[in-house]
Amino acid sequence: MDRRVGVEKRTVSERGQKGQPGTDLYPMLSVEEATEQLLAYFQTLEPETVPLLESLGRVLAEDVYADVDIPPLSNTAMDGYALRAADTAGASGAAPVELRIVADLAAGYVSEVPVVPGTAIRIMTGAPIPEGADAVLPFEDAERNGKVVRIVRPVQLKANVRDAGEDVHKGELVLHQGRRIRPQDVGMLATVGRRQVQVTRRPRVAILATGDEVVEVDAPLGPGKIRNSNSYSNAAQVLAIGGVPVLLGIAHDQVEDLTAKIRQGLAQKVDLFLTSGGVSVGHFDVVKQVLAAEGEMTFWRVRMKPGKPLAFGRIGGVPLLGLPGNPVSAMVSFELFARAAILKMLGQRNGERPSVEAALVDGMKSKDGRRHFVRVRVEEKDGAYQARLTGDQGSGRLSTMVEANGLAIIPEEWSSAPPGSKVRVMMLEGDL
Ligand code: AMP
Ligand code: MG
Repeated sequence: MDRRVGVEKRTVSERGQKGQPGTDLYPMLSVEEATEQLLAYFQTLEPETVPLLESLGRVLAEDVYADVDIPPLSNTAMDGYALRAADTAGASGAAPVELRIVADLAAGYVSEVPVVPGTAIRIMTGAPIPEGADAVLPFEDAERNGKVVRIVRPVQLKANVRDAGEDVHKGELVLHQGRRIRPQDVGMLATVGRRQVQVTRRPRVAILATGDEVVEVDAPLGPGKIRNSNSYSNAAQVLAIGGVPVLLGIAHDQVEDLTAKIRQGLAQKVDLFLTSGGVSVGHFDVVKQVLAAEGEMTFWRVRMKPGKPLAFGRIGGVPLLGLPGNPVSAMVSFELFARAAILKMLGQRNGERPSVEAALVDGMKSKDGRRHFVRVRVEEKDGAYQARLTGDQGSGRLSTMVEANGLAIIPEEWSSAPPGSKVRVMMLEGDL
């Protein structure tokens, strides 16, 4: 089967390496331009129904309304005596009010007798306020004498009464479509009687490593070889954001093998295709060749560091993001582009990483007009955030990513970031 779609007969120009606008078929894009071009290829996926508890961490695909008042009934917030506040007006130590206890009421039951003037009902937290009562006096503020309760202070109208609907009114919107479902949201879904919830289908993301030097994690590490870490760090990123990784192994730096493995991946009905490696300017950088020959390429370089060589296009109708091979670049490019695409497919609102402003402890140079995403560890010191580089910023150094909890963003206009510079740090922890 020929999966070529909309093949554009342009060749991959490698002129214009500096990315001067207009000098290349594929000019180097800013992060914003690349994001915009890429996101245009993604739509929110269809919803599916899951059991309540399985909705945790998924993206809500419907607006959820309260089917009842919450709480559904007016009830007591304390164990105590349900009474009429007016009966206690003027109560004092010198002139206590005495009310006759006419019933005991547990949570889950409705009182058969009303509270009439001069009486009270012993009532447990959550039990419905009996007819006639309008306040609850906690046990600890009352003195009981057999069938009589003594009150030495006026009780306020509505004291310890939780009104029906005081939390949420029937018909009110309780959870908005597009939110990532958290434990408290699951509680709210239960409260409004939802056994099943509509969530967006999880995007399926194909992951293919490339490189003759790359071997599987459990294969012997022969001469000249390195282990495939990208497929796993990227698959973990897919899982963390709520997608389904489809691991396709490793392709050789050879057009035929790469084409065959991409076709195998496309046969697995994926929504996004990720490759790593093979997108820079080297002789063996085959991802761009296959993308241009078998599909269409939209762009392939972004003005950022790490992660300049990033190819994007479509193949067999599926968007393909060719991530750079260096382990840090592959992760950072995923973070910026694949994550945004997955969030869009999930229909999640407000999925951006939280960011903080921090003072960069170590200074650094950035003269190349690219936006630098610098691996840092952010800590709070004297009420302000400080960001420390986690080490040398070589894009092969995965350990500096392991140490990092954020990526400090050095704007492309800066030629250097002296120590103490205030920078925005995109936090990498606490997803969902
Ligand atoms: P490339 O973009 O293919 O030129 O690769 C850049 C660097 O990343 C090279 O040093 C590769 O060996 C390394 N690399 C490529 N793919 C992987 C992978 N799957 N896991 C770990 N390192 C990789
Ligand atoms: Mg390679």
